[in-house]
Amino acid sequence: MENGFVLELSGNTAILRALCRAARGGVSLEQQRNDIAALPASTACNVLMIYPRFMTDSFWNFSEACELVGARYPAIPLGLITVAALLPKSWNIRLVNRNTEELAESDLAWADMVMTGGMLFQQSDSLDLIEMCRARGLPVVVGGPDVSSSPHRYAAANFRVIGEAEGILDKFVAAWEEGQREGTFEAPKFQVDVTKTPIPRFDLLKFDQYLYIGVQFSRGCPFTCEFCDIIELYGRAPRTKTHAQMLAELQALYDLGYRGHVDFVDDNLIGNKKAIKAFLPALEAWIKEHDYPFEFTTEASLNLADDAELLQMLRRTNFFAIFVGIESPDEETLAAARKKQNTRRSIAESVHKIYRAGMSVTAGFIVGFDTEKGSVAQPMIDLIEEANIPIAMVGLLYALPNTQLTRRLAREGRLHVDHDAAPAGKGDQCTAGVNYETKRPRLDILRDYRKILDNIYDPDAFCGRLERLAAMLDCADRRKELPQGDIRGRVSTIKLVHELMSRLPEGRERFWKAFTTCMSINPNSVRGIVTLMAFYLHVGPYSRYVMKQIDRQIDDLEQGRFVAPKLLSPVEAERLAVNA
Ligand code: SF4
Repeated sequence: MENGFVLELSGNTAILRALCRAARGGVSLEQQRNDIAALPASTACNVLMIYPRFMTDSFWNFSEACELVGARYPAIPLGLITVAALLPKSWNIRLVNRNTEELAESDLAWADMVMTGGMLFQQSDSLDLIEMCRARGLPVVVGGPDVSSSPHRYAAANFRVIGEAEGILDKFVAAWEEGQREGTFEAPKFQVDVTKTPIPRFDLLKFDQYLYIGVQFSRGCPFTCEFCDIIELYGRAPRTKTHAQMLAELQALYDLGYRGHVDFVDDNLIGNKKAIKAFLPALEAWIKEHDYPFEFTTEASLNLADDAELLQMLRRTNFFAIFVGIESPDEETLAAARKKQNTRRSIAESVHKIYRAGMSVTAGFIVGFDTEKGSVAQPMIDLIEEANIPIAMVGLLYALPNTQLTRRLAREGRLHVDHDAAPAGKGDQCTAGVNYETKRPRLDILRDYRKILDNIYDPDAFCGRLERLAAMLDCADRRKELPQGDIRGRVSTIKLVHELMSRLPEGRERFWKAFTTCMSINPNSVRGIVTLMAFYLHVGPYSRYVMKQIDRQIDDLEQGRFVAPKLLSPVEAERLAVNA
């Protein structure tokens, strides 16, 4: 009994110290128990938080744009630093982001526990980290969206935290302090009161490693897009933080000396329009009072364009770019994918309304829907051109774990068996997409996809969209100067243009012409336009890389070398449906 008790508690250093004292002094069992009971509720623990690597071949890492200003990765690990803020104050925390820095042996030696986890395309590194920790006897806790969607993939971890951390972390901490060293903790879905979420531990970040800093106002989205996992992870009733709470987060960033680009990482910032409209005046007053230390971006659904008042509020609050999911030019496809908010409207005109409110638009598009009739390539190219969207993230449809799409494909017997395993060596849906049996011939989908990339990232087409965007972007009232200390200010616009020209061997003259055209038609737009040019340094070569990969897949199909992956068994398909 006593030995068992000691073994069970073997990882808790303070309790061990109490037991050692007891052993040295020949203290009775009753005294040992009193010693333990007298320990503070939370004893010290060294927690090493490791943010796993994303695969490098990804649209999203914008590596060349980062390099231009000396950053190492675009986005911060906001989830991990939020979890850090939820842990007992007596616990010591170190953060290592594997996308920006090396994991040192000394960090591992220091740690009592490792916390890790992330998204699907971090799965491979997460699993490697779990294996490494287990091999050295270091307890490892895994959480985040991918473990929440596919917990079975992470069975090797000592602990799995499933769902939103705020809803369950206290139970994990209590279990750890009681000496438990294995377990799964699952938060009830969509129940977390985000008004109680603490300020993320921004102090753990090295700001100059990142292009921008993320904050979050809301979780959840009211829409029902079939391919989306957000509504499965966070629900359809957006939950929002209080104004005071949000401003306290921004104040914390300000007090830590951060200035520059802040991204509201909400999957749809306008999911609860009433709440965001109530918050924006408070944010506007705060940034004025602080002399505009931050410029904002976010994601929003396209119905933003229908609300002129909201557009003006965002403009006054220093929002300069919005990511919008457009997905397809085809009305029937949008309706079938339950993206109804994009139907019964001119998508291009909706995007132009956002430009006229002074914000540029980056958009997501998808190829591979069941309802695509014939080739979707030319209509998609035409839409990207007509809407003048310089940076279009065009990917192949990917059946993410834990979505309505995945469950439907499973029911229809069309889902690949390893659909929820991050494909080896592939960094996103551009090269890893179509993880299911297609309705249209796979070859046609891939040819469409290649044609779109080839067209939209041709330097001439890209520069044409930049010029037309500059003509529409009303940013007359945007400050030309960046806030003091903004990482983007490390390189002046002129130096940036010079760098761009020297790094763009092909199309250099066309880019120079685009720059001078934008200067002459809308000098206020130039900072934003040059930033988009900097992103081309990544998306231009990346699109050519993707085309090469797609060419290989096309060649395999044409030469009869393509071996279709095995399909999920009916039993597994049933499991997916039951777990939904
Ligand atoms: S609008 Fe965006 S976040 Fe909302 S359900 Fe659709 S894809 Fe998901």
